[in-house]
Amino acid sequence: MSGAFQPAPAALRPSEGAGDSKPRPTPPALPPLPDNGVAPSPAGLIARIRAYDPAADTALVQAAFDLAADAHKLQRRENGEPYITHPLAVAEILAGYRLDVGTIVTALLHDVIEDTTVNRDQIAKKFGPQIAGLVDGVTKLTRLELQSDRTKQAENFRKLVLALSRDIRVLMVKLADRLHNMRTLAGIPKPERRQRIARETMDIYAPLAERIGMDAVKTELQTLAFATLDPEAYELIQARLNFLRGQGADVIEEVRKELIRVFHESDIPLVEVSGREKSPYSIWEKMQRRNVQFEQLSDIMAFRVVVPTREACYAALGAVHAAYPVIAGRFKDYISTPKSNGYQSLHTGVTLREPRNQKIEVQIRTPDMHAIAENGVAAHWAYKGPDSGTDAPRMRWVDDLLDILDNVGTDDLIEYTRLELYQDQVFCFTPKGQLIQLPRGATPVDFAYAVHSQVGDTCVGAKINGRLLPLRHVLQNGDQVEIMTARGGTPSPQWERFVVTGKARARIRRFVQQQQRDQYRDAGRSALARAFRADGLDGSERALEAALKPLKLASLEDLYVTVGNGNLGPRDVVTATYPQLRASARAPRIMPPLAGRATPRNGAVGQTMPISGLVPGMAVHYAGCCHPLPGDGIVGIVTTGKGVTIHTRECATLESFAATPERFIDVDWEPAAFAGGSTRGSGHTGRISVIADNDGGAIASITNAIAKQNGDVVNLRIVNRQADFMEILVDIEVSDLHQLGTVIASLRAAKCVHSVERARG
Ligand code: MN
Repeated sequence: MSGAFQPAPAALRPSEGAGDSKPRPTPPALPPLPDNGVAPSPAGLIARIRAYDPAADTALVQAAFDLAADAHKLQRRENGEPYITHPLAVAEILAGYRLDVGTIVTALLHDVIEDTTVNRDQIAKKFGPQIAGLVDGVTKLTRLELQSDRTKQAENFRKLVLALSRDIRVLMVKLADRLHNMRTLAGIPKPERRQRIARETMDIYAPLAERIGMDAVKTELQTLAFATLDPEAYELIQARLNFLRGQGADVIEEVRKELIRVFHESDIPLVEVSGREKSPYSIWEKMQRRNVQFEQLSDIMAFRVVVPTREACYAALGAVHAAYPVIAGRFKDYISTPKSNGYQSLHTGVTLREPRNQKIEVQIRTPDMHAIAENGVAAHWAYKGPDSGTDAPRMRWVDDLLDILDNVGTDDLIEYTRLELYQDQVFCFTPKGQLIQLPRGATPVDFAYAVHSQVGDTCVGAKINGRLLPLRHVLQNGDQVEIMTARGGTPSPQWERFVVTGKARARIRRFVQQQQRDQYRDAGRSALARAFRADGLDGSERALEAALKPLKLASLEDLYVTVGNGNLGPRDVVTATYPQLRASARAPRIMPPLAGRATPRNGAVGQTMPISGLVPGMAVHYAGCCHPLPGDGIVGIVTTGKGVTIHTRECATLESFAATPERFIDVDWEPAAFAGGSTRGSGHTGRISVIADNDGGAIASITNAIAKQNGDVVNLRIVNRQADFMEILVDIEVSDLHQLGTVIASLRAAKCVHSVERARG
């Protein structure tokens, strides 16, 4: 194309740029050019692209330059240069990676949407929808960048940037943009701003460059940021490096030759051996990690050994390890276990022989591995000449990435997140916009625990994107999650079935164990009280203390629990408390007076519902599927003409109302619901499922055990009878969840019972 080389500065004057018809303010005379007086030109850039891709559409590059130069013509950078020097420099960085014309054009246009009057449509008209999409993507990242307070959540922010870069070229342009801004950071007058930009570079962009394998960009970003953030440490390391360098001739070259000799002696085929000094920041990082003083600093050289094959990598490693003392803990096999960015190499550390005695790092890899290590993802977008042989084996995640890129449709923001570089993770937001990262399959309960343990423990419901949904609902990328909590709320054992995070599971399990222990304790305490009363003996706590030592128990609490869970019979405790009884004949049983214990019967019909949050006058009843009890987390479901049905929060039936969140009402138990105490049934029916021996006595023992805990059996049904076992559903009238727990604990202690669960649905 004829536009390829147009070095004449006059042709590049902004006024002759792209002829869009948008009315513009009459341009004042362009401010004077910087001292060198040369107008910026894309000639060098175009020559560079031509050199690696002779067929490149350089006219498009020229057109992009013209449009950008025109759009930015009234702007200058903070250092006084015409603004166009910046996008031009960004494009040149990317040309250094031999990237395609689309990327270069995007680089030239990357700031026009954000900073000038040019819009996406105009770019689309001139350069096509794909480039418009790329430029728009970079603009979105820039806007994201402008939001404050994100370094706190740097890791999440990095991932969000990745998730938003639906085309990886967007991210490459953004990284080159940041690199040029860091190179010209000195032009920014305010020190606080320089610090902030450097911090962000260190926390967000350098790791992102590493993540996509652009190693040289990562190193340069780190070095520049380090020099700004900690100039003192930077200077000290530079001084030490100068000292070490000054000690001899070209140490790196000498060691390199020595290594080549070592490989020759072992007949290792070599492609290349090269050496370099480590970057100041990587040295600093290592010193921090290993707590090394500057004076001890000797580990400053790294050597790269490129050999033809994978087998040769291991042979070369063997040769190095045979020739030098190996530094323990430094060998890493990234060939059999590649890093997540696809990086493969063998790493090791050895100590050079006297008199050098310096530590060196050695990286061994094949040429294919080398290409990935140097350029990462960029290697896949680079122009490959017609004679380029086989493609470097692509890392699986790069393939996945490219597949997804091909399939991305609309540019709705949520659609962007389809690019799931982190396919095993979801990103959700709190109502305040904080980003919470969770494993795929996570539920609102996981989210709540990720926000704070307390929030998890007391969570009672969740609004997802404004809709009330069940706690077992699986979260999607981009969901905004509002957790509703209730004071006094507690984790539900049911949650354990659907949570996916370890934190949530551990908290729930701990709570359930504590709750079970409480049930055992209460059951044990009342069993003991009965046993002592039956024998007419003093079963007070003071009397029981005497039994702790012979029973080898640490506390009364332990004693109650041990009795409650059936590991110790109440009679054993009686005889441990009163050893003299053991020798004598069994004390005559004296029936305890059952003073004041009228059989509790509940007749409290017409009592107001002990539930808050109801609409006065509305009919209310308890769901037959889940049998909620005071103490259970509950929600109300409104049915027109029927009133409100109270379900437990874990009731599976709620799923069927997910589409009609307006029918959910937030309800809770009144404190009065618990006031009846544990002895008096007050009209709540709990349902349990018992698996017991299939023999005649089992049902009698079960009902007996329930009655002993003051529960009233209102219904009993054998649902499954096998030769050995039967499953029985028992509806029990109890005052609350706590009492049902006591019943369950005592049933579990019964000999004929194999298991007891709360039945749901
Ligand atoms: Mn920029």
